Amino acid sequence: MRSGASVALPMLARRTAAAGLTGFEWAVGVPGSVGGAVRMNAGGHGSDMQACVRRAHVFDLDAGRRIAFDLADLDYGYRRSSIGAAQVVVAAELALRPGDREASEAQVAEIVRWRREHQPGGQNAGSVFTNPSGDSAGRLVDAAGLKGFRLGSAHVSPKHANFIQADEGGSADDVLALVREVQQRVEERMGVRLEPELRLVGFGEERQ
Ligand SMILES: Cc1cc2nc3c(=O)[nH]c(=O)nc-3n(C[C@H](O)[C@H](O)[C@H](O)COP(=O)(O)OP(=O)(O)OC[C@H]3O[C@@H](n4cnc5c(N)ncnc54)[C@H](O)[C@@H]3O)c2cc1C
Repeated sequence: MRSGASVALPMLARRTAAAGLTGFEWAVGVPGSVGGAVRMNAGGHGSDMQACVRRAHVFDLDAGRRIAFDLADLDYGYRRSSIGAAQVVVAAELALRPGDREASEAQVAEIVRWRREHQPGGQNAGSVFTNPSGDSAGRLVDAAGLKGFRLGSAHVSPKHANFIQADEGGSADDVLALVREVQQRVEERMGVRLEPELRLVGFGEERQ
């Protein structure tokens, strides 16, 4: 199955399920595009892009031509790939399997229900910190007593401690300051250095 890079993941998850293809149901709760997901190795609910992508078609801005990355070339790791800053994903070939339409649609509905129950809506960028090996970032932030902790216009979600909510009209600087503060307090109180999963844009090179 081939998809353009601008296609929204939730829509593609629903369409593939409705077409009787299985393997992409997990993506229904990830609010991004196929291109961003290929680059970031987006994942959830026990799967990720690495398990689905067969080939990515990329336009290399430096070389000025289109190139194909097979799965091995993508060199996937947790929320990372070998795709560089000057390479734009334009399409992806996904290796999905024929499945049972009703079962896939039920799985999609269950994932949507689970996300609504366990993750906040509103203005946030999804998971802030990468889960350290054998633990969960949300558990550590919660155990450090930081659920609901506020700095200016940003606060740690009371629903899920690995999400930071920005107020209506809030500032990105407040969000970043809160990320740093939570990182420092968790390290002091729990002895674990959390690493942000977020990509920072527009803060200057030193913060990328
Ligand atoms: C509420 C919420 C929940 C989330 N849940 C999850 C989750 O469960 N799992 C997960 O993995 N992520 C999650 N995310 C993060 C994010 O939605 C995904 O990682 C998504 O795949 C990013 O895609 P995007 O198109 O939004 O890319 P962006 O966030 O816009 O960009 C991400 C990176 O990819 C690059 N990029 C974007 N498009 C392309 C392209 N076409 N070619 C090359 N590079 C590109 C950008 O330059 C940037 O470096 C969540 C975010 C939110 C807000």
